[in-house]
Amino acid sequence: MVARNLAKVQVAGSNPVVRSLRTSSTDAGREQERKSKVGWPRGEAQDCKSCYTGSNPVPTSLKNPYAFLMQGSPHTLALDIGATKIAFALIDSDCEVLSRGAISSQGNDDLWAVLSHSLKEFAPADTSHIGIATAGPIDLRAGSISPVNIAQWRNFEIVKNISQLFPNATVRMIGDCTALALAEHSIGAGKGFSNLLGVVVSTGIGGGLVINGKVLEGESGNAGLIGHHTIAFDSDRLCVCGRTGCLEEFARGPKMVQTAHRLGWVGGEDFQSLAASAEVGDQLAKTAIELGARALAVGLVNAMMITDVHTVVIGGGVSFAGEVYLAPLRAHLKKEAELSGFLNDIKILPATLGADAGLIGAAIFAQQ
Ligand SMILES: [Zn+2]
Repeated sequence: MVARNLAKVQVAGSNPVVRSLRTSSTDAGREQERKSKVGWPRGEAQDCKSCYTGSNPVPTSLKNPYAFLMQGSPHTLALDIGATKIAFALIDSDCEVLSRGAISSQGNDDLWAVLSHSLKEFAPADTSHIGIATAGPIDLRAGSISPVNIAQWRNFEIVKNISQLFPNATVRMIGDCTALALAEHSIGAGKGFSNLLGVVVSTGIGGGLVINGKVLEGESGNAGLIGHHTIAFDSDRLCVCGRTGCLEEFARGPKMVQTAHRLGWVGGEDFQSLAASAEVGDQLAKTAIELGARALAVGLVNAMMITDVHTVVIGGGVSFAGEVYLAPLRAHLKKEAELSGFLNDIKILPATLGADAGLIGAAIFAQQ
């Protein structure tokens, strides 16, 4: 029997980093991993109301079809830049996470100083491939990012800065939801589908596209930014982006909670509580979730009609609620899709890679 070892290592610096070192696992362990992905994510994810981050492990039984592309280097350094944290990991050619770390993306006066210090300590100096998955918006042409929730990074030239840190490395950047789509297409729920839309529903809504087996980046790297297309342009709902009636304003987790409060639900302040109420039959909670799911269905079918993509992989904290959310979503998708005349075989599949999808997608992209 091969044991799975989990070692935690504190890395020096002003912002503590915790690394967990994984070795291989048994089949029984893998089965346990698979089961652990059913329902709400375990551990730290239960404390995270804001995103799909969590401790869902990578299913090690799934091998990377792009492994042949990665045989030249022992590992890839992957980063996942999010609203609350920046995760980084060394990932091997089978998409195994060998070691990992993270810093907070909030509360650091000089975020780059903290990140660069941590990466220098974390990754080997001869790292040859680096992939960055990041919250948007991004500008691929400039190699810069302006994540909505990281105020000090506006047009921040992340690619140039990382390249200076690791001068021998090839550095590639991709949107975080595009990274999720690529990872799920390669080794996750979307394996075998040439075309898919990856969507994350949590405090916000993001998306990314794989078309004919390759990621669709678009002109600036923001293809698939589904959360900020409007589904109600006459609405009085002003989105944080400045437009009115964006999909996010109706379908993201906190908005469903807001809807529930308007209906008179008093069961809590977060989507997890709302889903729990719906699970035990609370009609107000069920109605609020149904309205959010219907809005998402409209948005998804809009995107599917434009792209002629028939498969959606859904991740994010909201999707972890399971059938109480997915069942109404599926029903409304079917209804909306039927009217299109050609979306008669659509599929919506729960993501399987959990919080590591961004890191894995970034690593695969870096090696392509
Ligand atoms: Zn918007």
